[in-house]
Amino acid sequence: MPAFLTRFAPSPSGYLHLGHAFSAYSVRQAADDAGGKALLRIEDIDLARCRPEYEKAIYEDLAWLGLEWDGEVRCQSEHFEAYALVIDTLRARGLIYRCFRTRAKISELMGETESDAFISGPLPAAEERARLADGEAFAWRLSLARARDEIGPAFDNLTFSVETETGTQPITAQPWRFGDIALTRKDSPVAYHLAACHDDAVQGITHVIRGKDLEQAPHIQIVLHRLMDWPTPVYRHHRLLSGPDGKRFAKRDKSRTICAMRETGLTPEDVLKLAGIE
Ligand code: GLU
Repeated sequence: MPAFLTRFAPSPSGYLHLGHAFSAYSVRQAADDAGGKALLRIEDIDLARCRPEYEKAIYEDLAWLGLEWDGEVRCQSEHFEAYALVIDTLRARGLIYRCFRTRAKISELMGETESDAFISGPLPAAEERARLADGEAFAWRLSLARARDEIGPAFDNLTFSVETETGTQPITAQPWRFGDIALTRKDSPVAYHLAACHDDAVQGITHVIRGKDLEQAPHIQIVLHRLMDWPTPVYRHHRLLSGPDGKRFAKRDKSRTICAMRETGLTPEDVLKLAGIE
């Protein structure tokens, strides 16, 4: 395993935009600066939103930008069985429960308690049986309370390292702020945190470099690392690009997609310059 292994992990639920170009470039550059390697991972677990044409465009856009990746591309949709095995393990240890609530209901409950975390637990067995018999959909959630029982007092002192330009900072995780972790969705056999942590572990990722929009993710992901005995990578969170209106680029900004820019005749150098990379 190289001492520095990172990854760029886009979701093919839209075309890459300028913000992705900046992120991909930051990942590639960090690996090159460290004499390490950078992998490309396609996070295509959301079967309703991901499309093959978006995936194809990811490869074309990155190649056009001159960004190359080490090793083979990993597509998460090819690994649903591996994620299911993790669910089975956590389930056998009594750490997860079926959550039948809708996202809307969860937001409502969070509003009521004025907490941003959703903490619940399994339903009474009879009610759960009845809902299952009615064919009601559910998501598996990890119970933080059970995770704390299993990990013990160390749960309150889980720390991860964040590298910034001024040095490395140890941060104590605050998982309670985020509530019981959704491991699957009603409409998907795996949810983001589980798939990402699993893959970071099996791929031996040492450094996770991604935007500040995911700055809070380690507070949640470290619980999975600890329970599954997966190493916790070091994190770097890069700035997010914004347009002239001050808003972050998002998949809805069609004119800012790399493929739209390619079509208007911009060169890769122009695009990297627009992304703030000289
Ligand atoms: N797939 C995520 C995204 O496109 C990135 C997740 C990660 O880097 O952990 O925002």
